[in-house]
Amino acid sequence: MEYIKSKIRDVVDFPTKGILFKDLTTAFKDPRALHIIGWDLSQLYRDKGVTKVVGIESRGFIGGSILAFELGAGFVPARKPGKLPADTVKMEYAKEYGTDTIEMHRDAIGPDDVVVIHDDVLATGGTMAACYELVKSMNPKKIYINFIIELEALNGRSTLPADAEVTSLIKY
Ligand code: AMP
Repeated sequence: MEYIKSKIRDVVDFPTKGILFKDLTTAFKDPRALHIIGWDLSQLYRDKGVTKVVGIESRGFIGGSILAFELGAGFVPARKPGKLPADTVKMEYAKEYGTDTIEMHRDAIGPDDVVVIHDDVLATGGTMAACYELVKSMNPKKIYINFIIELEALNGRSTLPADAEVTSLIKY
């Protein structure tokens, strides 16, 4: 874990002033760190019968794909609006300024699925909470929530559903 941490880059004032951005690209480009991230994420869900990993656009696609591969599960993208080609379901959610929308293919998840929703960083939790509702509307057997990094000071867990099982590899 200390090795992964040593490869995460802090970027001050990105994308706006006052934000300390946790940049995982420096960990993803490091072969050993990428391997440890994939292995450690998969250890959290080894015996849980996971059938699909949902990755949130765009940084959640990286860890989400690795996790799906490690678990022998399928990968499903949750995307910004207008990107997916077939019939979709969508969820609008409040951001600091205005709203945003997250979209998935309507046939992406079914009632037999056990799902992990993955994103790289838990900040305020708004994006993940919306994605959770979207996945829930497709009635899977079980939904887990996972992040590589959790920014505890922002208390994002309080935004997530109380009954959701949430894991993160690294807490700041
Ligand atoms: P949230 O506020 O939890 O809805 O975060 C929205 C998205 O922004 C997440 O997918 C994160 O990838 C990203 N994000 C927010 N804050 C940070 C941060 N300080 N460092 C890196 N990524 C962040």
